[in-house]
Amino acid sequence: MKTTILVTGGTGFIGSHTCVALLEAGHDVVVLDNLCNSDATVIKRIGQICNREPGFIEGDIRDSALLKNIFDEHNVNAVMHFAGLKAVGDSVQLPLAYYENNVSGTLNLLMTMRAAAVKTMVFSSSATVYGNPASVPITEDFPRSTTSPYGATKLVIEDILADLYQAEPDWRLARLRYFNPVGAHESGLIGENPRGVPNNLMPFIAQTAAGLREELTIFGDNYDTIDGTGVRDYLHVVDLANGHVAALDYLQQRQELLTVNLGTGQGISVLEMISAFEKTNHCNVPYRISDRRTGDIAKCWADTRLACQLLGWQSSRTLENMCADSWRWQNSLRNSTP
Ligand code: NAD
Ligand code: UDP
Repeated sequence: MKTTILVTGGTGFIGSHTCVALLEAGHDVVVLDNLCNSDATVIKRIGQICNREPGFIEGDIRDSALLKNIFDEHNVNAVMHFAGLKAVGDSVQLPLAYYENNVSGTLNLLMTMRAAAVKTMVFSSSATVYGNPASVPITEDFPRSTTSPYGATKLVIEDILADLYQAEPDWRLARLRYFNPVGAHESGLIGENPRGVPNNLMPFIAQTAAGLREELTIFGDNYDTIDGTGVRDYLHVVDLANGHVAALDYLQQRQELLTVNLGTGQGISVLEMISAFEKTNHCNVPYRISDRRTGDIAKCWADTRLACQLLGWQSSRTLENMCADSWRWQNSLRNSTP
């Protein structure tokens, strides 16, 4: 069924790739983004990839009047909700800003949706809701906990969605728990463009390989993992975007609260990632080992069977695809800088 999807945070990293996947699947798309961590040129780039642009409204999910106008003026059937602040370290320094933006913003969005009788939402949750898991792979029924205000916002929003569904079972809600999205669109036109020093591993590796950073700091080599460095489930952002289209298709068939992991099911260490990046891209990533980063866990990867069973979705892109596409994007950023 063709629908109009409101994509909050649609000029951001995951949102922009999901706009491409939605447009390619034949949906119409309207993006709402306040550009606090992205820029509007992304809309044109999405247009270049898809031969049609999504609609774009610069604005904030906390602005009720604006949201009401959007629902009045566009025939929105469903919301994909990516808008949020996501830097774990910043959230420790600025907890109120994180709760206000992420939790109040989501509440505002849900209340405006209900008033407009739009009752389908796909929400960006995170593997961070599993805290420090007792074992791997992680299934969706693992206990939830958190180590940061950012993680707490995800827990609270997950609970809000569960309570809402309990009270009003005609909603169609998805809580998608992403593992570690990396890579970029293979066109080299969209990708992740972190402001300042990247917190995440992959953009830091790419910037180091490009000579923008002297060396990568590896946060600890004494974990109980294959080589002592932290292990994560890295997932290509285009696979992740396709998972959203699958979740939307699923919700169109039923009124449900869906909770699924989106990952590859494979754990990769920091040293393995560096080696794959160097080998794939014939480049050099100098590094040094330092102490562990506060709050980091040793290992985390998904049990992906539920997503496969319910959504018919699984990742298809390889670690080499992730490294090659990140590198292409890094180089296209460099070439587009005056
Ligand atoms: P991003 O920062 O690239 O995208 C988020 C977008 O939301 C940005 O374009 C930003 O300008 C916008 N935004 C933020 N607050 C807003 C507001 N109040 N109103 C309107 N727009 C607002 O981040 P991303 O990596 O694309 O993440 C998207 C979502 O996925 C976030 O909710 C994030 O917490 C979640 N997530 C991300 C990861 C990851 O590793 N990238 C992992 C798990 C979950
Ligand atoms: N990491 C690292 N150096 C960096 C950034 C990350 O060694 O500059 C490690 C980090 O300790 C973790 C892995 O890379 O083991 C993934 O970190 P990221 O921040 O990308 O994801 P998260 O820890 O949130 O899963």
